[in-house]
Amino acid sequence: IDVRDISLDDVPETRTGVMLNIANPSAAVRWWRLPADGVGLARMEFLVSNEIKVHPLALLNPERVTDATERSAIAELTKGYKDGRSYFTECLAMGLARIAAVWHPKPVIVRLSDFKSNEYADLLGGRHFEPLEENPMIGLRGAARYYSEFYRDAFALECVALKRLRDDMGFTNVIVMVPFCRSPEEADKVLEVMTANGLTRGENGLEVYVMTEIPSNVIRAAEFAERFDGFSIGSNDLTQLTLGVDRDSEALAEVFRERDPAVIWMIETAIRRAREAGRKIGLCGQAPSNDPDFARLLVKAGIDTISVTPDSFLEVKRNVALAEEGDVRMRRA
Ligand code: PEP
Ligand code: MG
Repeated sequence: IDVRDISLDDVPETRTGVMLNIANPSAAVRWWRLPADGVGLARMEFLVSNEIKVHPLALLNPERVTDATERSAIAELTKGYKDGRSYFTECLAMGLARIAAVWHPKPVIVRLSDFKSNEYADLLGGRHFEPLEENPMIGLRGAARYYSEFYRDAFALECVALKRLRDDMGFTNVIVMVPFCRSPEEADKVLEVMTANGLTRGENGLEVYVMTEIPSNVIRAAEFAERFDGFSIGSNDLTQLTLGVDRDSEALAEVFRERDPAVIWMIETAIRRAREAGRKIGLCGQAPSNDPDFARLLVKAGIDTISVTPDSFLEVKRNVALAEEGDVRMRRA
């Protein structure tokens, strides 16, 4: 789709927010014209793997990178920066700024890095630091990583970049989101590490969200609601973990169904509990992007926002409008 071919005259208005999932800054620039209600999921991973390229622990502990080829590649990339630390934080802040600027002042939900250990190991120097795990998808991932002895210094760099983005560059439309948070106890630890690194919930208007992508996030939703400003349902992991099906398995592709009654129960219950706690809740998994009709089900369940891939934005927007009985007004040119 070429954005110039899109007629914005017949984009309906909706009460439910329709936001975008943005993987990298060039996608934000490419889709700038879409009348989105902000970015519901700005993924950090592509920015790190495509632009920064180096594992943050390799930048903090260069002496542990013993391979000469890797060392010179890292030296080349970081040339012109004060040190490895400032290379990482400046590149990350500038990359996220390119996303945050496009729909400013609408909210942009930036998710903390959510690589699995095998993916972190693929970054330059990463294999010298990362553990070998049998099941990285349910391993040292998300919240557990951020407060671990092993990774917390690297996590500090993400916090510094986000603080710079919000407090120095002025992108206070940026909301920070914690992925893969298994329990409220983990949430407390992560929020504490964030505070130690200058990112305190409520300070300078900082809102912190948590992903709802593990069944425990639904089961203990009320306790999560005491610790976070909002939720975003990750239907990809929530489907995987509710049905016990590997989301990447081709052999099980038929079994991976977001419309399974068990998954729908999780989503509807998460929405109801968030509302009961007075918290906002959206969904940023692939389900409505792949199946725009899925958006109708979410609207009926009372979701606040739906975040989708840019190429499915218009179709989802229309489906949301249809689900919002009656009062659909056409946007005036
Ligand atoms: C999800 O799990 O639905 C999600 C949005 O996160 P990711 O696909 O990056 O794991
Ligand atoms: Mg996920």
